[in-house]
Amino acid sequence: MYKVASYDSSSGLHSETVERSLNLTDTYRCPLCRQGDLQALTLIDAFACNFCRHILTADLDRQEVQVVDSSQPITWTWTGQRWQSLSHWGRPLTPLVWITTALLLSLPAGVVSLAGYLFPPLAPAPGLPFSLIWAAITFAAHFLLVLWLLAEHYQFPIYVTMQVRLLQQRPS
Ligand SMILES: [Zn+2]
Repeated sequence: MYKVASYDSSSGLHSETVERSLNLTDTYRCPLCRQGDLQALTLIDAFACNFCRHILTADLDRQEVQVVDSSQPITWTWTGQRWQSLSHWGRPLTPLVWITTALLLSLPAGVVSLAGYLFPPLAPAPGLPFSLIWAAITFAAHFLLVLWLLAEHYQFPIYVTMQVRLLQQRPS
């Protein structure tokens, strides 16, 4: 463990943030639920969360953990202060999530709107044009998908609490 001293020029305060390496004797905030703490399991290179109960194997050389009891084998790397989620290719996942979000929100609704604009109804009906309503429904449906994607990625506390409640209600 070593300390990094930093100086914040806007507040004029010196702050000391503790940087530590990933090891099996420390406890860490769980990267999955961000509510519980990870504690090492005896005899194996793995951690368990005391809140969401997930088990994560540790690769101490690469400073990484990977969730093993989940459908998606997500990997996080320990930066010394916090976790960073990695994609399958070992790259940070956050930019990919936001690119997917932008595409999901713009492409499908855009294609539907364009089709409605290029092929207007032969006999216009009163009220809102059907193509506009259809584009709005398409946008709303993909917006829900995006909400789920962001909730999965950022593990918002309310989302995690709901997931844990659902898991606890499920008969084992
Ligand atoms: Zn957890």
